[in-house]
Amino acid sequence: MPAAAINPQTIRFPKKCPHCGRPAEGTYAVAAVRGFDAFVGSYTVPLLLDVPVCRDAFERRRGAALAALIAVLLLVAIAGGAAVWLAIRGAWLGAIPLGAVAVLLAAGGRAGWDGAALDRWILGLSVRSVSSTEVRLQFSRRDYYDAWAKLNHVKRPHA
Ligand SMILES: [Zn+2]
Repeated sequence: MPAAAINPQTIRFPKKCPHCGRPAEGTYAVAAVRGFDAFVGSYTVPLLLDVPVCRDAFERRRGAALAALIAVLLLVAIAGGAAVWLAIRGAWLGAIPLGAVAVLLAAGGRAGWDGAALDRWILGLSVRSVSSTEVRLQFSRRDYYDAWAKLNHVKRPHA
C-alpha cells in the first residue's frame, strides 16, 4: 500500500476519487489521526483535509461515520457496564479485560483510529498527523497515488 509524508499546508489532491478513480463530485473532510497528543497536553483542533471524492464514496463514508460512532458508543457502554457488573461480583479475571476493551475503544474513538480505518476502506486514503508540518498518507490505489505524487512533486516511494 503506497504511503507518503507531506506538509499539510501545501498538499493538493487530484480531482478524482481515491476509491474508484472516477471524477470527483465533491469533497470529504478527512480527519488526520493523532498520536498520544490526543490524550496528553492541551486539546488541539483536528486537522482536516478536503479530499475530492465521488458521490458514492461520500455518501457511504458519511453513513459509516454515524454507524461507527453508534457502534463504538454501544460497545464502550456494554463492555464498561459488564466490567463493572463483574467487578462488583469479584470476578476480576473477566472484569479487567472487559474494562481494558472499553478504555481502548474510548481511546481509539478519541484519537480517530476507527475513522482512519473507515477512510482507508471506503475512501481509499487515510491521514495521520506526525507533527504540525507533517502528515502521513496511506493510499489504497496505486494509480491514484501516482497521480497524487505527481501533483505534489513527491519522489518515488521507497518500495
Ligand atoms: Zn469513488
